[in-house]
Amino acid sequence: MISRELLERVACPVCLEADGCPACRQGGGHAACLSDYDRRAACPCGGPDKVRLVAEEGAMRCPCCGVAYPSHAPEGYLDLVPRANLGEVTRYADHEFHDSLHVADAPPLLSARVKADMMRRMLGLRPGETVLDLGCGAGKMALYAGSRGALPAGLDVAPFFLPRAAREVALVLGDLRRLPFRKGAFPRAYSLDVLEHLDEAGVREVLLEARRTVGPAGRLFVYTHAMESSRLAWFQRSVNRLARRLGEKGLIDHAREALRKSDHRNAIRSHEHFEALCAQAGLRVSERRYYNVVFKAVIEDLLLRLYEQARRGPRHSAAPGGAEGAHEPRGEPAPPGRAAVGLGLALTALLKLDVLFFGRIRTGPFFGLLQPTLPAGGR
Ligand SMILES: [Zn+2]
Ligand SMILES: [Zn+2]
Ligand SMILES: [Zn+2]
Repeated sequence: MISRELLERVACPVCLEADGCPACRQGGGHAACLSDYDRRAACPCGGPDKVRLVAEEGAMRCPCCGVAYPSHAPEGYLDLVPRANLGEVTRYADHEFHDSLHVADAPPLLSARVKADMMRRMLGLRPGETVLDLGCGAGKMALYAGSRGALPAGLDVAPFFLPRAAREVALVLGDLRRLPFRKGAFPRAYSLDVLEHLDEAGVREVLLEARRTVGPAGRLFVYTHAMESSRLAWFQRSVNRLARRLGEKGLIDHAREALRKSDHRNAIRSHEHFEALCAQAGLRVSERRYYNVVFKAVIEDLLLRLYEQARRGPRHSAAPGGAEGAHEPRGEPAPPGRAAVGLGLALTALLKLDVLFFGRIRTGPFFGLLQPTLPAGGR
């Protein structure tokens, strides 16, 4: 949906106001946006705000660069993708790729729910607060945040939103590296399973843009991973090896997981590296929990997949070469029934033990709460 609250918060993704501190102030109009965006946006003062858009018939126009960004009211989103080429986008913009991930309109369960509930806890989300999903995909997590009383907004590179998300979530099509929002527009934001899809420069840009968007008193929750593993990793590796072997025998659908990970750039080398990237963007990691997936590996990656595949029958087993489902058109999957959701919630409770028992054992995947380091009086 395109709400009035959303219209008040959006800005041109690529245009900065002339205003700023002596280091980043610039009187030169759009020429300064083109030539000096990176330096001005990264100014230690917090940088200038982005230029407000002016509503016109069916679009929002930027008075600085003149671009009219179309408003797709029937589809429920604003298109604020920068018109200039910023380099390649992830495969998430590819329709077929998206389709093959099969998103159903259902509450997040299992590990997705573990992440969702960590997000709610670390952000301290209260009913009535707006919260921005950076890289919202189909909008499932934003809908979940909305079901708990928050006012959800979402941004993604591709408009493959669930029909209910198009009705209930304030949606923007955009590039994470040029967020089309005014400074401090969303004091609460999160990004789940997104940063691993970007290269190092991309991670730095997203963090910087997110810092401006949450403002000096804001909070940003991330779930991603560094290229590290704990001493528990041998266990996950053995389970994964077993899953792969069962996948080869058609007993498990392993191809979907492989597809999901096929796009990873994995730019974050270590937790120290991530902290350094945050510091460059004016953020600090104020809380961190690691995600050692012991219960998850057994329950979600092994037992449930065996069960799923057994129900589906051998006819649908993974094709050789991992080209699963590529030629098989699929509609939107039906939402699970009440019993399945109940079972999913019970299993989710077990999966949460991974965070409770192993959340302090350093490993790659982690939940992080990031807060701006700007001085309290900063902009
Ligand atoms: Zn400045
Ligand atoms: Zn401009
Ligand atoms: Zn502009």
